[in-house]
Amino acid sequence: MNPKMASKFLLITFAICKLIVAVGFNAPPSPFLLVDVDGHVSDHPSDVAAVSSDFGMLTPPEPPTAVLRPASADDVARLLRASYGSAAAFPVSARGHGHSINGQAKAGKNGVVVEMGRREIISGAGRNPPEPEVSAEGMHVDVWGGELWIDVLKKTLEYGLAPKSWTDYLYLTVGGTISNAGISGQAFHHGPQISNVLELDVVTGKGEVMKCSEEENSELFHGVLGGLGQLGIITRARIALEPSPQRVRWIRVLYSNFSVFTRDQEQLISLHGPPKFDYVEGFVIVDEGLINNWRSSFFSPRNPVKISALGGDGGVLYCLEVTKNYDESSADTVDQEMEQLMKKLNFIPGSVFTTDLPYVDFLDRVHKAELKLRSKNLWEVPHPWLNLFVPKSRIGDFDRGVFKGILGNKTSGPILIYPMNKDKWDERSSAVIPEEEVFYLVALLRSALSDGDETQRLEYLEDQNRRILRFCEESGIEAKQYLPHYVTQEQWMRHFGDKWERFSHLKAEYDPRHILATGQKVFPNPYLASFGSLSSLSASATW
Ligand code: FAD
Repeated sequence: MNPKMASKFLLITFAICKLIVAVGFNAPPSPFLLVDVDGHVSDHPSDVAAVSSDFGMLTPPEPPTAVLRPASADDVARLLRASYGSAAAFPVSARGHGHSINGQAKAGKNGVVVEMGRREIISGAGRNPPEPEVSAEGMHVDVWGGELWIDVLKKTLEYGLAPKSWTDYLYLTVGGTISNAGISGQAFHHGPQISNVLELDVVTGKGEVMKCSEEENSELFHGVLGGLGQLGIITRARIALEPSPQRVRWIRVLYSNFSVFTRDQEQLISLHGPPKFDYVEGFVIVDEGLINNWRSSFFSPRNPVKISALGGDGGVLYCLEVTKNYDESSADTVDQEMEQLMKKLNFIPGSVFTTDLPYVDFLDRVHKAELKLRSKNLWEVPHPWLNLFVPKSRIGDFDRGVFKGILGNKTSGPILIYPMNKDKWDERSSAVIPEEEVFYLVALLRSALSDGDETQRLEYLEDQNRRILRFCEESGIEAKQYLPHYVTQEQWMRHFGDKWERFSHLKAEYDPRHILATGQKVFPNPYLASFGSLSSLSASATW
């Protein structure tokens, strides 16, 4: 017997013994233990512990029965077939980089987590999934579903190319972001990342490997994009590319008046250009004192900006953030174009902060903040984040009720706010957005501290999230959650609205036994005693 087979045999024997001890002699062993894969299956306590929690740290750690680090789509298919074909089916969840907030990538204690992240697979010493493959001619790249966006970028830059649509942070996986949408300041122009996917390989809940695109299995293709991992595990994605810019001119300006701020943002995203900006975002500054936080280290600590000195409206300031990409050939005209665009805006005179940096450094900006927070032990703390898409017509009411009301001059983290154009989203995808042509992302990215004052505690921030959702509900603001978190089927049906029927029909077709991504709690989980009783955040919420 070769060493690989011997270790697999030992693992299987060990796991069966454990199971017999745990459940008695009459229960059959879980079929996943007998699945033969080229990658690596483990129930080692350190492996299952490593996938038992997530970035949010809001749900209790929940080690699965085992972890699969697949070497290929076939490994994923073997595991899913073993579950689907068995009388004792078990839940299977893909885990990208575990950056979910509410346990969405968990599989429960009877389940198997498929660790898709290439970096984790390699460190697990299994055989490795396919490397990214760039087609300079086709202007696309084929990547493994667990590839980090930072690694996609590094590979495509070797060809002078880059994806068009991003997230603010690149240590997220392709499969994880396109199961949601993938948004950043480029979305107003290029659409979310899901609007820039050309083709997918998906392993369904029946264990079939299916290629899909606009032309082939198109229902599955659109259903999987924004589909919260419910219809299949994405093992390959073909992402559209463009020539990579070399540098970025990055400007921030301040506003004290919310309607002036949003009018300017909306004007910028409506331009058909050139000239037009390549990226439009913004954030709200409600904390008294300095503007700096981990998302905006841009303002020099030696030259701090005080809200009070700038006459913030009700103690609140708004920062517009825009960039223009350029390279050697356009270096001469970038200043002129920026000036032309800036002239249209009505920010506080003298509040212009400019910097210039390589394109890669701009895209990877949040990672620098991560390293700083890690060095102060402030990264691995609970993150009661709330992300909402708010229709343009009600964003002023949201400002009055939330930024100037519920938040009460305290945030415990950055608050992003930027508008997007609905026509850049494909309505056939499973992603859920408001009805209006323009809507805003409002992202409250908070960190909870156990030793801070009351307003920094987890319970306080979670309560604030509930109050914000209740405020929207009671004021008739038809906001949609991004990275949604609900626990009852009624809530999910309301969230999906008109899309629910199609989505549940696709679920019945591609994952009829509800094996996949049970951590999302979208469909009744047959492997849990009581569906819908697990959430700490929303059990008592009425939204
Ligand atoms: P996970 O959290 O591991 O998984 C998320 C869900 O997708 C789970 O249900 C999982 O089962 C499923 N899944 C994972 N991989 C696959 C796959 N291959 N096939 C099918 N299903 C899969 N989002 C934005 O849009 N824009 C941002 O700017 C942004 N910035 C962020 C910054 C930080 C610091 C963090 C922590 C998150 C940010 N996010 C942002 C949110 C991010 O998109 C989500 O956390 C998303 O879940 C991706 O994370 P992940 O790759 O770690 O996936």
